[in-house]
Amino acid sequence: METEAVHAGREDLPGLGLHAPPLDLSTTYPSYDSRGEAARIDAFAADGAEPDGPPVYARLGNPTVARFETALARLEGTGSAVAFASGMAALTAVLLVRSAAGLRHVVAVRPLYGCSDHLLGAGLLGTEVTWVDPSGIADAIRPDTGLVVVESPANPTLAELDLRAVARECGEVPLLADNTFATPVLQRPVESGARIVLHSATKYLGGHGDVLGGVVACDEATARDLRRVRFATGGVLHPLAGYLLLRGLATLPVRVRAASATAAELARRLTADPRVRQVLYPRLGGAMVAFEVAGDPHEVIAAVRLITPAVSLGSVDTLIQHPASISHRIVAEGDRRSSGVSEQLLRMSVGLEDVDDLWRDLDQALDAGPGGRTGGGTAAGSYDTYAAP
Ligand SMILES: *Cc1c(COP(=O)(O)O)cnc(C)c1O
Repeated sequence: METEAVHAGREDLPGLGLHAPPLDLSTTYPSYDSRGEAARIDAFAADGAEPDGPPVYARLGNPTVARFETALARLEGTGSAVAFASGMAALTAVLLVRSAAGLRHVVAVRPLYGCSDHLLGAGLLGTEVTWVDPSGIADAIRPDTGLVVVESPANPTLAELDLRAVARECGEVPLLADNTFATPVLQRPVESGARIVLHSATKYLGGHGDVLGGVVACDEATARDLRRVRFATGGVLHPLAGYLLLRGLATLPVRVRAASATAAELARRLTADPRVRQVLYPRLGGAMVAFEVAGDPHEVIAAVRLITPAVSLGSVDTLIQHPASISHRIVAEGDRRSSGVSEQLLRMSVGLEDVDDLWRDLDQALDAGPGGRTGGGTAAGSYDTYAAP
């Protein structure tokens, strides 16, 4: 894994006389052979295979993005990967591919990331969803079921599923596992029977909070369908984002392992703390910790100083947010609660800071507000709240 992370997608560089991967920002590519271009476009339209030879147009494919796709497929252990402008664009493309095949029904297990829940629940793409417990998947499958969607560990409760058992329940229907939280460093869902692995690359793959992207790791047949949808709908990953994501992959294993060790220690300290009602930390490990506070969670958010109060996750610095207010706000309150997203729940993405510095900040933040030892955090909404320590 460590070796693939720094070499996959870059094997040809020494032969090109390069060390860093080239960043190709071209939107179009000159060609004096328009007969040849016609043949290449026909070939792509027919089966979605990546065109041979030089690129044609940036919506059809980009060499820098292709390097990231090659590397991610290698890390996830799949034949191919297809990158998109964001995690949501990636999920959209998968849903469109299945709908276009006449399979508009989706079976899904809550909780999912709030916007994934919303995209499925609101039927914005003309799909219909049946929400089930993991044991109810097989019974919910219909002749027009095109996809089963799960997350494990799930956003934001870190609930874990037995992916192997889930894949068995799916039968012939492809299982999509959102692997954003675990990353291929901790779990490779295809080894448990998932056919489609989704990432919000915005999170751990990028790893520095400065790039939005999504990627689907899958077999080449599915990748061809996804490329055709990407070409026709335009949700492409920008080449600079592809460059940054490839760079992010190089340090993915060390980042995830280091942040996971810190997260496990913080989970241990939070579990022993009377100001905390419950700590949710996956058996699999990982750098995400969720916990329910006894006091007011909004006061904790307002009181952090080293930790950044912000949605998203997977960055080198530690972030904390209140899922019921932000990441899962768009999910109806009843659905939120029944899937374990309580008003007391906070979700923390642990970064690479020193564990004692993080604990000192958490400790003082947990004291904030009426229920804490010191009382009264800074007024939420003022810029002071977000001042650097
Ligand atoms: C953030 C997230 C998404 C959506 O990804 P974007 O890159 O924000 O579009 C999907 N799934 C999970 C688990 C996420 O955390």
